[in-house]
Amino acid sequence: MMPDGGHLTGKENRASIEKSIGAFSFGFSMAKISYKHLYNTKRWYRLRWHQLNDHPLCAMHQALGQVVEATVADHITPHRGDEALFFDEENLQSLCKPCHDGAKQQLEKSGTLRGCDVNGLPLDANHHWRSPRP
Ligand SMILES: [Zn+2]
Repeated sequence: MMPDGGHLTGKENRASIEKSIGAFSFGFSMAKISYKHLYNTKRWYRLRWHQLNDHPLCAMHQALGQVVEATVADHITPHRGDEALFFDEENLQSLCKPCHDGAKQQLEKSGTLRGCDVNGLPLDANHHWRSPRP
């Protein structure tokens, strides 16, 4: 009798499938990670407190000439887990919750910023209205 070499038994086969499924779902959950470990630091609490203390008004409403109390310290450039960006005070702006949850999320999704400034120009510096005419 020849030994059954190189041939996976049913049990081994299942194990290798489960292994690849495990690797897949691990990769998937990595993409949705919430960076809670960064927000749960004393350093972030202090940074956020200073930001809202120094800039107590919503930056987006301020651009519209409106005075609204800010409650969120927002990262201007999305940090996506990058600690250097996360803890960079230059990368913070104060926003009210509706601005943070609305316009900002929209900007990050679509790459454009909704709304206009007091002169009727779009707030988005990349908007084609703002690009110099040829
Ligand atoms: Zn606002």
